[in-house]
Amino acid sequence: MSVRWGLIGASTIAKQFMINAIRAQADGEIAAVMSSNPERAEAYARENGIPVAVSTLDALLNSDIDAVYISTTNELHLEQGMAAIKAGKHVLCEKPLALTSADARSMVAAAKKAGIVFGTNHHLRNAGAHRAMREAIAAGRIGKPIAARVFHSVFLPENLQGWRISKPEAGGGVVLDITVHDADTLRFVLGDDPVEVSAFTQSAGMAGSGLEDGAMCIWRFKSGVIAQSHEGFTTKYAGTGFEMHGSDGSLIATNVMTQKPIGSVLLRTAKGEEELSFDREDLYTRSVRRFHAAIHGEGRPAATGEDGIWSLASAEAALQSSKTGKAVAIDPQLGSLD
Ligand code: NDP
Repeated sequence: MSVRWGLIGASTIAKQFMINAIRAQADGEIAAVMSSNPERAEAYARENGIPVAVSTLDALLNSDIDAVYISTTNELHLEQGMAAIKAGKHVLCEKPLALTSADARSMVAAAKKAGIVFGTNHHLRNAGAHRAMREAIAAGRIGKPIAARVFHSVFLPENLQGWRISKPEAGGGVVLDITVHDADTLRFVLGDDPVEVSAFTQSAGMAGSGLEDGAMCIWRFKSGVIAQSHEGFTTKYAGTGFEMHGSDGSLIATNVMTQKPIGSVLLRTAKGEEELSFDREDLYTRSVRRFHAAIHGEGRPAATGEDGIWSLASAEAALQSSKTGKAVAIDPQLGSLD
C-alpha cells in the first residue's frame, strides 16, 4: 500500500531534498502541496510535478493523503501539526517542532494519543558517518567516552538569507536552526542526554532584529561527558566536523555536519589510524524510509517526536544561558510524555 503525502509548505528543503526522498521510496507518492499563496502553490506544483495545489490547510487535510511533511517557517509547525494530527494524518515535522518545548510537547503528546506516527526530520541521525560513530562508541572502540567537539558553523546561502536572519517571530536565529541539530546529533552519537548547557551567542554581521547568527555551547551529559558545539551562519571557510574523544581512542569525522552523505570518519587508537567505512545512502531518503516503515508498523522514525522535544528544549536552554550568562539545567524527564 503506498503512502500518499501532502506537503505543507512550498519550501526550499522540500524542493531540494524531500520530494526526491519521498519519490525514492517504492511506496511513496506526493499527492498535494499547500502554500499560503495560491499562485506559489500552483507554480511549485507545476515545477515539481505534484498533481494537486491548494492554499488552505483544510483543503490539504481533506484531500486523499495519509501523511504530511511540514516544512513551513517555524512558528507555523505547531498549529499545522495539531490540525494534521486531528485529521488523523501521520506527521513528519521539520525542526524545531515549535517555538517552545512546551508547545512541542503538547503536539507530540497529541500525536501519541491519536495513535499516529510522528517524526522529527533531524536528518543527521540518518548519516552513515554518524551511525558509524555511534556504533564504534557503543562497541567500546574509544574506551570510555570523555569529550565531544562539534563544528557546525557554515555560511548561510544567499537564497536562505530571509526569515532565519530577520524574523524572531518566525523562529529565526542560528540556535533554533542549527543548535537543535547539534543537540540531537550529540544525543544520538553518544546515546546519552544533556543535563546542562552554557552558551554564548553573537551577531556577527548577518542577522538583525536581535537574532543571533553564531553560537558556542558547552554541554554536560548524564554520563559526565562534556561537549562543545559551534553553530554559525557567517563563516564561509570553516568546514564542519564531529570529534569524539575517549580513554582509548578518538573518532575524528570531517565534513559530516551536512545534508549530503559525504565526509570521513577516522578512528585513532594505540594501534594507529583506521578509516571507518559507512553507507552513503541519502540522509533524507533514509529518514522517509524509516518513517514509512513506522507507518507499516515496523520500528520508529529515525528521530521521534520525543527527540524533537529534546533538541528544542536543549536549544531553548542554550538561548536562556546566553541571555542570563548562567549555565542552564535541562530537564531529565523531557522524553517522557507521561
Ligand atoms: P523556505 O524559506 O524555503 O520556506 C519556508 C516558507 O517560506 C515556505 O513554506 C513558503 O511559504 C515561504 N516561501 C518560500 N519561498 C518563498 C518565496 N519565494 N516567496 C515568498 N515566500 C516563500 O525555508 P526552508 O526550506 O529553508 O525551511 C523550512 C523549514 O525546514 C524550517 O522549519 C527549517 O528549520 C527546516 N529545514 C530543515 C532542514 C533539515 O535538514 N532538517 C534543512 C532546511 C530547513 P508557503 O508554503 O506559504 O508558500
